[in-house]
Amino acid sequence: MTFGGLQKLTLIDYPGKVAATIFTVGCNFLCPYCHNPELVDPIKIKDQPKLSEKEILKFLTSRQGLLEGVCITGGEPTLSAELPEFISKIKALGFLIKLDTNGSSPEMLARLLSERLVDYVAMDIKAPLEKYKKIVGGQASLEDIQRSVELTRSAPDYEFRTTVLPVLHSPKDILSIGRWLQGAKKYYLQQFQPTKTLDSAYLDEKPFAWDKLAELRSLLEIFFDKCEIRE
Ligand code: SF4
Repeated sequence: MTFGGLQKLTLIDYPGKVAATIFTVGCNFLCPYCHNPELVDPIKIKDQPKLSEKEILKFLTSRQGLLEGVCITGGEPTLSAELPEFISKIKALGFLIKLDTNGSSPEMLARLLSERLVDYVAMDIKAPLEKYKKIVGGQASLEDIQRSVELTRSAPDYEFRTTVLPVLHSPKDILSIGRWLQGAKKYYLQQFQPTKTLDSAYLDEKPFAWDKLAELRSLLEIFFDKCEIRE
């Protein structure tokens, strides 16, 4: 595998753990608000400095006993057929694994879970199912998304999260997501940050006011064990 980035230390990406974050390149969705365009846009990917698997593993070996976990994010990590083998090598070094996924590859997610290669799954929920394709582009299989939701619920630890912005998500949509995922352990409303976006037109989009997000969170909390806002 090749990678588009490495964050050597994070105290927030892996809840409760001191971790590093690895960024894979390429994604099959085209969320206009995506804040990692350099890992998604094929033209920008070409210009992105790359790291080899060997370089990543060498770094992680140097952090054994210092870091507890490794977050694998993207892009969309599950697109790589080599992911299970790569994770096995990281686990052999003694690290916990958190996987961020858009839920488009339930077969890969099922394999990673059945082989006990992931300890924490964070699945993006882009919208209520009926609005999914409008937001991520035509490639989304709603059956795959639903299957990944069910698989994520079976992970050792997990969360669902939605980056919300007024132009795409009405309060009704957000409550609809709550009803869909009800009973889940953790759900995060993520604030949209218009600093870097896949579709440059979204740089002009306004995020929800914080008090509106707080109001939405209070309406959602009945559906989840834990429901919070994340910056
Ligand atoms: S937000 Fe995630 S799923 Fe959407 S385009 Fe970006 S990397 Fe892909």
